[in-house]
Amino acid sequence: MNTSQPIPEHAESSSIKVAQRRADLAVEGAPPAFDTALHVGGPNVGDRDLFMRHVGEMFDRRWFSNNGPLVQEFEQRLCKELGVRHCVAMCNGTIALEIAIRALGMEGEVIVPSYTFVATAHALHWQGITPVFADIDPHTHALDPDAVRRMITPRTSGIIGVHLWGRPAPANELQAVADEHGLHLMFDAAHAFACTYQGKKIGSLGRCEVFSFHATKFFNTFEGGAVTTNDDELAEAMRLMRNFGFAGYDNVVHPGTNGKMVEICAAMGLANLDAVHDIVNVNRRNHELYTSHLRGVAGVSILPMAEGEESNYQYVVLQVGEDATTTRDQLVEILQAENILARKYFWPGCHRMKPYRDLFPNAALMLPETTRIAERVIVLPTGTHVSEKAVASICSIIRVAVNGH
Ligand SMILES: *Cc1c(COP(=O)(O)O)cnc(C)c1O
Repeated sequence: MNTSQPIPEHAESSSIKVAQRRADLAVEGAPPAFDTALHVGGPNVGDRDLFMRHVGEMFDRRWFSNNGPLVQEFEQRLCKELGVRHCVAMCNGTIALEIAIRALGMEGEVIVPSYTFVATAHALHWQGITPVFADIDPHTHALDPDAVRRMITPRTSGIIGVHLWGRPAPANELQAVADEHGLHLMFDAAHAFACTYQGKKIGSLGRCEVFSFHATKFFNTFEGGAVTTNDDELAEAMRLMRNFGFAGYDNVVHPGTNGKMVEICAAMGLANLDAVHDIVNVNRRNHELYTSHLRGVAGVSILPMAEGEESNYQYVVLQVGEDATTTRDQLVEILQAENILARKYFWPGCHRMKPYRDLFPNAALMLPETTRIAERVIVLPTGTHVSEKAVASICSIIRVAVNGH
């Protein structure tokens, strides 16, 4: 992002509320902290002029889809950015997951966390595969490799790890489990663009990794996704599958689908790529502010990002402890009354959503940590639309809600 386009701050009054006692809270009748809804995330927008230039050229070429020059350039840029051989851009992250699952030949049962966005499970279900939910490590919110081991049956064909919140899943340990049992391992990296695992950009772990570039994600192409891999054959198979299986004009060699990314989405991606660094900086600033403002507030804590790794800091995850004087749900209500649209994320867990509850009515028995974490988490607003003052205000409200002062 160039300096002539400063990152816009959310429109807010100069005297933004700092709560000091319960009477200052909107639930007690005080005016709300924000006049308009403050969402957990707003779309990150990079260089609009560059986007418009790409779109102008696209109209001049009259080439809108079918592996156009912008998609090709976008894929090459991502390969470089992520240090991976192949990037296959797709129309969204869910189709990218489905195509990756198909291309790997997964079948029967595949082990996934329940504590994830429901698309991770749906992508399997939609391919006729049974998602089997394994528990998470409560400190990292990622799959627990020992819990994965416990869920393996003769029908298991693979594992999908999720880099939730941009925190890397324990890839080496999961790879060891996969190798012991001859399973495919891939990752849902929808949250993890520009994040690292052991110092290297996420994108080449397992057999492949799947990104989402949905408007709400750290890096967006309006809607979009991609699979990245160092496996030449797998990449080739996925390229065929995303385009109906066409190997040439009249030659269909795969039962494919339509997973293509369109040119205008690639234009958005190219315009946003250069802004990644600036957006990380704003997100990191907000994350550090939340962490320091809430340090010492009994009963609540911000989930830290993985130590020694780079992160996009896209999610500010507040955990409400069992010792807090306010329940998680009460705190959400208090914040929403202030027009702070803090959200429970991935609650109540995929295993408690109807399609999967019907499949596994007793799944919760194997998912104690998932159940606990899903009941404690609140995701707080961050991004370029959330100013330092807004973070201070939100933290003052949380402090008063939890501590009374
Ligand atoms: C957003 C998301 C997806 C789905 O991506 P879409 O691009 O919205 O289809 C899959 N998994 C996780 C963990 C996500 O957050």
